[in-house]
Amino acid sequence: METYDVAVIGAGPAGVMAAWKAAESHARTLLIEREGSPGKKVCAEGVLADVLTDAEVRPVPEFVANEISGAFLYAPDEAKRVNVGGEGYILDKPAFLRVLADRAEKAGAVARYSTSVEDIERKDGLIEIRSKTDGEPSSVKARVVIGCDGTGSILARRFFPRKNYQAITALQYSMTDCEVEDESKLEIYVGHEKAPAGYIWVFPKGKGDANVGIGVKGAGAKTLLDKFIDKHPKAFGSARVERTLAAPVPVGGEVESYVADNMMLCGDAAGQVIPLTGAGIHTGLVAGKIAGEEAAICALSGNTSAENLNHYRDRFNKLWGPRISNSLRALDSFERFSDPELNIITGLLEGQDLVEMANGFSPTRAVGLLARHPLLAMKVAYQLLTG
Ligand SMILES: Cc1cc2nc3c(=O)[nH]c(=O)nc-3n(C[C@H](O)[C@H](O)[C@H](O)COP(=O)(O)OP(=O)(O)OC[C@H]3O[C@@H](n4cnc5c(N)ncnc54)[C@H](O)[C@@H]3O)c2cc1C
Repeated sequence: METYDVAVIGAGPAGVMAAWKAAESHARTLLIEREGSPGKKVCAEGVLADVLTDAEVRPVPEFVANEISGAFLYAPDEAKRVNVGGEGYILDKPAFLRVLADRAEKAGAVARYSTSVEDIERKDGLIEIRSKTDGEPSSVKARVVIGCDGTGSILARRFFPRKNYQAITALQYSMTDCEVEDESKLEIYVGHEKAPAGYIWVFPKGKGDANVGIGVKGAGAKTLLDKFIDKHPKAFGSARVERTLAAPVPVGGEVESYVADNMMLCGDAAGQVIPLTGAGIHTGLVAGKIAGEEAAICALSGNTSAENLNHYRDRFNKLWGPRISNSLRALDSFERFSDPELNIITGLLEGQDLVEMANGFSPTRAVGLLARHPLLAMKVAYQLLTG
């Protein structure tokens, strides 16, 4: 049976980066993906420009579907909208992940596609991974295994309890022939009537194509999205739905434990998602990079204890821990506001403050701005600052 220093399960944003960094650090690395190619999971594909900086790639037409310059955030009654700044991209995510996976292979990682991990077991200080490639069983051993296998992670199910793991349903239509007002803007619609405890997004991919989706707590996503589309005939009157896909988005913040002897979880598997926005590409990429580096160091030094692998957790949390937990608080308070209150908030805050709140930066600043509306300010302040 072959033995690898590092085995990475899943070729999503976290996995392709983990495999690249581990291989680049001279660890014998295996990347296992159950699909025939990366990027089959549904995604709205929106990222800010600094995501590509962290992914260490330049924006190229091969994987950039559309360039974005800000977003319109609509109040529940749509009477007001906030113009939010920020440069970014709508990716062709399968092409993007392909480029990153190829880079991992060029650095020396062995990639196995159409290979589903079926079982994982500890054996003699190593991890045995049993998988099937097109129905054919095989096994490998690894000194460190990194579970980048998303919300349904097999590594998490076997070895990590994930007590605080909460996921909402996100449903998305890939649409053509849309007529959105400005294809360089993302559109975000909030409101409990439209999308209870969530939001609707319209992410233009250019030339009339758009990812149009909804993330909500509980059932009814399709009915709500169809209603939204019906209510916007100007944009969607002549549009067609080419594909409908749904997947869970973890919104409960980082799970309590995601590092153990010989094992780490990364990305969605570890709840490393910005809870209010549901964005997980950036966090997943960064977590994967760090996990790949630390896994290689530990495997090559012969010390794969949880204590040693925990450097990954420390490094990731220094960068993203406060943003994830601040955004979780913002999500909690957002859920407690009524639609009329959200209408007022949208009118009072500047675009950048909303972005910062959603992304978990400095909620105190946004609260300061609400001082123009004292009663609401007290409610926001209480919810954001006391948690
Ligand atoms: C509808 C929707 C829209 C979204 N929009 C955005 C957005 O616009 N911007 C953003 O930043 N984030 C968005 N997200 C979140 C983002 O898609 C995820 O956070 C991100 O993809 C997580 O990356 P990951 O590598 O952790 O896991 P994933 O991308 O889920 O990748 C996991 C991989 O593991 C593979 N796998 C799973 N189990 C096994 C197994 N047993 N054996 C082998 N392989 C396995 C899967 O096939 C998959 O390729 C969205 C999510 C959804 C559902």
